[in-house]
Amino acid sequence: MKWDEFADWGRRVADWTQDYHLTVGDRPVRARTEPGAVLNALPATPPETPEAMEDIFRDFEDIVMPGITHWQHPRFFAYFNSNASAPSVLAEFLASAIAPQCMLWQTSPAATEMETRMMDWLRQALDLPEGFAGVIQDSASSATLAAVLTLREKALGWQGNRQGLFGQKPLRVYCSSEVHTSVDRAIWVAGIGQDNLVRVPIKGSWRGMDPDALEAAIKTDLAAGLHPAGLILCVGGTGTGATDPVDRCLDVAEKYGLYTHVDAAWAGSAMICPEFRHYWPGIARADSIVFNPHKWLGVQFDCSAHFLKNPDDLVRTLAIQPEYLKTHGRDGIINYSEWSVPLGRRFRALKLWFLMRSYGMEGLRQRLRNHIAWSSALHDRLAAEPDFEIVTPPMWSLWTFRYLRKGADPDELNQRLVNAINDDGRIYLTQTRVDGALVIRFQAGQFETTEGDVMIAFDVITEIARALT
Ligand SMILES: *Cc1c(COP(=O)(O)O)cnc(C)c1O
Repeated sequence: MKWDEFADWGRRVADWTQDYHLTVGDRPVRARTEPGAVLNALPATPPETPEAMEDIFRDFEDIVMPGITHWQHPRFFAYFNSNASAPSVLAEFLASAIAPQCMLWQTSPAATEMETRMMDWLRQALDLPEGFAGVIQDSASSATLAAVLTLREKALGWQGNRQGLFGQKPLRVYCSSEVHTSVDRAIWVAGIGQDNLVRVPIKGSWRGMDPDALEAAIKTDLAAGLHPAGLILCVGGTGTGATDPVDRCLDVAEKYGLYTHVDAAWAGSAMICPEFRHYWPGIARADSIVFNPHKWLGVQFDCSAHFLKNPDDLVRTLAIQPEYLKTHGRDGIINYSEWSVPLGRRFRALKLWFLMRSYGMEGLRQRLRNHIAWSSALHDRLAAEPDFEIVTPPMWSLWTFRYLRKGADPDELNQRLVNAINDDGRIYLTQTRVDGALVIRFQAGQFETTEGDVMIAFDVITEIARALT
């Protein structure tokens, strides 16, 4: 393709994009594809000669689109949403048009300086104190890995990268049973080992870590000659929105000198609203915090905001050229590749800039407040139905429920219910386990969802449940 043919196709893609987003609500949310259907529709060998864009685009519509689960569907209530607001799509188009590789300041100063400014806008939006510095990671998993590597290096007196872990006292890291699997994987990759990830029991309706049990676990480890090194807290866990008592757990961490990382990948977006910040009291005392603007806030994957109280620790862990330690962030330039495991970096700050300017923080807050209010209204309606049980209460816009029928095995019944709902196509839900029981999750957070979209879920859920044979 020649660049002078590009604009025609660009306009066609733009028209297609607008039409897609305006009508995606008419499609079944979850793909109805059989396994292998797309693979078999694609030729087994690559073309030797050029093909017309017309043909490529037609196949995109005929082969690809039927195999898509519509994450931008207004009735996508599964997992957590991964939003793509219109301005952020435009910003990504531009970022891919210029396609800079933003590993160093000098490889595109605008990208680095935009990132510094956007991360500070987000810091203010979350009301984190000045002094927290931010970096955009590709995912929360990467941010958590970076934090775990940092806590490992700190605990080992900065010798781990050089000497490895051989002959060291085992490092111990504490978390609740409710943390995301990215924590386990970070522990594996960092060489700390799954057996040294200590699951502290939870208690209470927030399903948060019991701080007394945390302290008891640390004491036991110290007595056994192990090395307590870090604490990973969860604010808005994936299954049920589990949230640790941040301030009380940080009290314990401070007492024993643990590095602390808070995973608020989903719920962090809601912290732009002051009324939800009681969910993370004392957050300013954490060392590291991650949240994903690519989930609820409105920019598309990938864009994970990682805040650090002392970025020197992170840079000291990950920078390969020690002289950067002296220049980052202070008297000169920042090379953000020194703040993350991957070297190469996309220009991700641009979409944050487009998003925050297009909606204003107040516009974004209103969206999140609506999602939470509508989800809570749906919860109240379902709670009033005698054959439904609310299993975990609303945490932001997430809660879980199950359908009960005399004589039926609840796990089997609810697995069948969630399958039937997703086959129906009007809404999309996923299941999780709470204390061993299979339950169905509901969460609202799609950027364009309406009160009507959320309320339809009541009809769909009750109708399909009662019709199950
Ligand atoms: C989604 C999620 C993650 C993982 O996020 P990625 O950006 O996909 O790595 C981690 N923790 C929690 C609580 C999440 O909800």
